[in-house]
Amino acid sequence: MRYIFITGGVVSSLGKGIVAASLAKLLQARGYRVTLQKFDPYLNVDPGTLNPYEHGEVFVTYDGAETDLDLGHYERFLGIQTSRHHNVTTGQIYQTLIERERKGEYLGKTVQVIPHVTDEIKRRFTFLAQQEPYDIILTELGGTVGDIESLPYIEAARQLHYELGPLRVLFLHLTLIVYLEATQELKTKPTQHSVRELQRAGVQPDILVCRTPKPLPRDVRAKIALLTNVPRNAVIQAVDVATIYEVPFQLRKEKLDEVVLRRFRLPTRSEPDLSRWHTFLEGLKNPRSTVRVALVGKYVELHDAYKSIYEALIHAGGWHALRVEVLWIHSEEITPANVERKLKRANGILVAPGFGERGISGKITAIEYARTRLIPFFGICLGMQMAVVEFARHVLGWEEAHSTEVNPNTPYPVIDLMPEQRKLRGKGGTMRLGAYACEIKEGTLAWHIYQKPLIYERHRHRYELNNAYRPALEEAGLIVSGRHPEKDLAEIVELRGHPHFIGVQFHPEFQSRVEEPHPLFSAFIEAALSCRE
Ligand code: GLN
Repeated sequence: MRYIFITGGVVSSLGKGIVAASLAKLLQARGYRVTLQKFDPYLNVDPGTLNPYEHGEVFVTYDGAETDLDLGHYERFLGIQTSRHHNVTTGQIYQTLIERERKGEYLGKTVQVIPHVTDEIKRRFTFLAQQEPYDIILTELGGTVGDIESLPYIEAARQLHYELGPLRVLFLHLTLIVYLEATQELKTKPTQHSVRELQRAGVQPDILVCRTPKPLPRDVRAKIALLTNVPRNAVIQAVDVATIYEVPFQLRKEKLDEVVLRRFRLPTRSEPDLSRWHTFLEGLKNPRSTVRVALVGKYVELHDAYKSIYEALIHAGGWHALRVEVLWIHSEEITPANVERKLKRANGILVAPGFGERGISGKITAIEYARTRLIPFFGICLGMQMAVVEFARHVLGWEEAHSTEVNPNTPYPVIDLMPEQRKLRGKGGTMRLGAYACEIKEGTLAWHIYQKPLIYERHRHRYELNNAYRPALEEAGLIVSGRHPEKDLAEIVELRGHPHFIGVQFHPEFQSRVEEPHPLFSAFIEAALSCRE
């Protein structure tokens, strides 16, 4: 079992998650058993209670953990499933230690960052290794080297390196080379400083991956190598690329995978097999046409808030050799007066998940537009719930129908709190979370799309379609095409007489893969193409 730690320097948002996932992909494509985990230095127990503006999307694992969005990259790139053990936060570490301290497990002792916090971090660094026989575990350390809160993680990794030795633990540092337009120079000083920072903590990086806007000339590489103590062939350049899906090929060209394997004294075997990935990338880069999808949501200023949805659209597009142009539409800005103008360019309308009242009426207006103009519609979670509300209001004439999340006093609570949610008080990790079974009704659009009677999809919600109103809704033309077998919850709805109108209570975006696009997204893109034509 080997460990690769990935740290980041100079600035945040350099794409550590993508580099980690790309390297893991190359190793996997060579036949190694790999997985990835992420350690986040904040004190929240999980990102579930964070505002999407702060942190981007919350990624939900099959076992119902609310995690960092980098786990989404891991799953999409490798086609693997991660779990609640793949994302650890400082909040979880401290929660564990404080609970133990209160139980009296440290009686007589002072509980300290070293050794108690670092030991608990190390226990979790190596935890996955006990669950499955991986060859290599890649661990991404969140934050930027030099941050106070990252120190215990770097110290724990340093100790693991000391204990297991250099043949089993390797440090990869992702850094930024700055380009000065005025003098047309590539500057390496910030990189030198961030490596110094690591060295001060007792860690010598083995590999540097240098994000750079321009290719690094030989002399610049040599200088970086000399001043950071990193072998020259382990100074890897990552020049800015048009799509994240190029990165594995880019790093392959730089032989990053070989540098890693040689360092671990592992056989380099034959070339990594990336043929499926290549097929996807060819479609992505050589589209035969473009489809435009309106993504209607209230966090559209920050595209990361809809990361998995966006990537799922791109996967489906690439496999159909279609460029998907996403029109980011703010739901708060849609009104009945301007909806036509805002949405007329769209070949398909996707109404996003969300919480609370803000932007709700814009979502309902967008759905009405899609329904009445017969434009392909895809509603996810809140998007599905609002499709039911829109239908109840405008087809059944129940003008004040609503979700009790938004209007607790509605006379027609067509969307209502799930019974098991009523007694819950706390907000952290208390939603209906993770994968649940869904039975598909024969002959429906969903049946046609999935081609399976039973599927599993991941959830993150508190409200659901109120079964008391189901007969009236179905009578009027709403089809419940997917339901939870035991609890009889409506999981998928569609519309009689509309070419492509589908709302799902779950989040299919979490299961889309680069090498395996999600059928719901594929079908939506196809429908958007026919709509355009
Ligand atoms: N706010 C809604 C609920 O809790 C929808 C959640 C979501 O879109 N993820 O049921």
